[in-house]
Amino acid sequence: MFVSPLSNSLAAADIASTLHPNTNARLHEKNGPVIIERGDGIRVWDTNGKDYIEGLAGLWSVAVGFSEKRLADVAYQQMLKLPYYHTFASKAHEPSIRLAEKLIEMTPAGLDRVFFTNSGSEANDTIVKLVWYYNNARGLPKKKKFLARNKGYHGITVASGSLTGLPVNHKDFDLPAIPVRHLTCPHHYRFGLPGESEAEFAARLVAEAEAVFLEEGPDTIAAFIGEPLMAAGGVMPPPEGYWQGIEALCRKYDILLVSDEVICGFGRLGTPFGCQKYGFKPDIMTVSKQIVSSYMPLAALLFSDEIYQVVADNTNKLNSFGHGFTASGHPVATAVALENLAIMEERDLMGNAARLEATFQSGLRRLGAHPLVGEARGAGLIGALELVADKATKRPFDPIGRVGAIATEEGHAAGLIFRAIGDQLALCPPLIVNEADITEILARMETTLERTAARVAAEGIA
Ligand code: PMP
Repeated sequence: MFVSPLSNSLAAADIASTLHPNTNARLHEKNGPVIIERGDGIRVWDTNGKDYIEGLAGLWSVAVGFSEKRLADVAYQQMLKLPYYHTFASKAHEPSIRLAEKLIEMTPAGLDRVFFTNSGSEANDTIVKLVWYYNNARGLPKKKKFLARNKGYHGITVASGSLTGLPVNHKDFDLPAIPVRHLTCPHHYRFGLPGESEAEFAARLVAEAEAVFLEEGPDTIAAFIGEPLMAAGGVMPPPEGYWQGIEALCRKYDILLVSDEVICGFGRLGTPFGCQKYGFKPDIMTVSKQIVSSYMPLAALLFSDEIYQVVADNTNKLNSFGHGFTASGHPVATAVALENLAIMEERDLMGNAARLEATFQSGLRRLGAHPLVGEARGAGLIGALELVADKATKRPFDPIGRVGAIATEEGHAAGLIFRAIGDQLALCPPLIVNEADITEILARMETTLERTAARVAAEGIA
């Protein structure tokens, strides 16, 4: 295969200069980067000219695909008109005002105010601080703890990383660093007891949550945060009845319910927002990624008027809301997000996800019959195949991640990018996919499974 000198020197420069996020640095030094050079629709090309279907939409986020010129045009025009302005001290600009209005209109009733950040992590950090501030202002200074779930993902900054329930994001970072309790991961395949139905599993987890509420004391618990469908931890849809049970508990004990929709939001599950798929009503919501198809860094939190009124009174006492980012509501990012949402509406991309759900999910379930696959799961246009050493007993490979890494290599060879979370292979294609694209993605995944199985057998991995 032709390997361009440019890519070689670039690769060397990358190895010499960068610490990559979520990467084994020593392995990276050995194997080097896959340098992605350009994109078109659902495909990207590397510097060796090889093309891939981007089966994870970048990082679960590029709804409109990798070549939407309208977003480039809007960014350019906004840069010419007003490339930057902030929103501190009562300053404002039209794109951020319009986007805030749009988000309030799109999201379920009861989310009445918007605060902009650059990343999902910052949005969740802001939620922690906002909730603390709110409870201090309400005269409830003890009400500060958060409840989250094992394997949940809410970001990596100090507070959001504390909410995340993945060991790799905690270990040696001295996290959690805020008061948080992580509850059992609501994944029936892995954490259901032998013979326990999904409904029984959900009821047990809700009872566990109530026991933790009572043990900690509801007057010390501020909020429960969860992704409607847990995504980055392994794409795990909740068991039926789980969210209704959790919502009822939160109402009973005056605990705010936070829906982290950074991945589930804007149609990923076939409904506009994930909480609508599972039928619960959050007090606070985090959004990012598909809001702007990740063409710009942007995230936001939305919250109820009740929270706003308490917070607003307090800022009046203190003479300011002492929180915000230089780029909160950045005019280019918010202008691009508005155009991205307009495109999603014009092309009915959320409807597209709903229409293609059956094709995608049934195709994944078919791959679930492969001997390497313990469980095939998902909802809407997100899914995962969990690879196991023994299908009957669900025994994972040891060490976890080795076979996932092989599958990643074989996926690349087959022209498919997905995300291996340990040995769980996650797919989350751009929302612009059509039936034929889904068929092609699943065919490439099948090839990947076959080649991975051959290597697992050849290398004697068990
Ligand atoms: N919440 C969820 C549910 C996420 O999936 C992510 C990122 N994958 C985040 C928060 C953090 O977002 P960011 O990487 O933009 O900080």
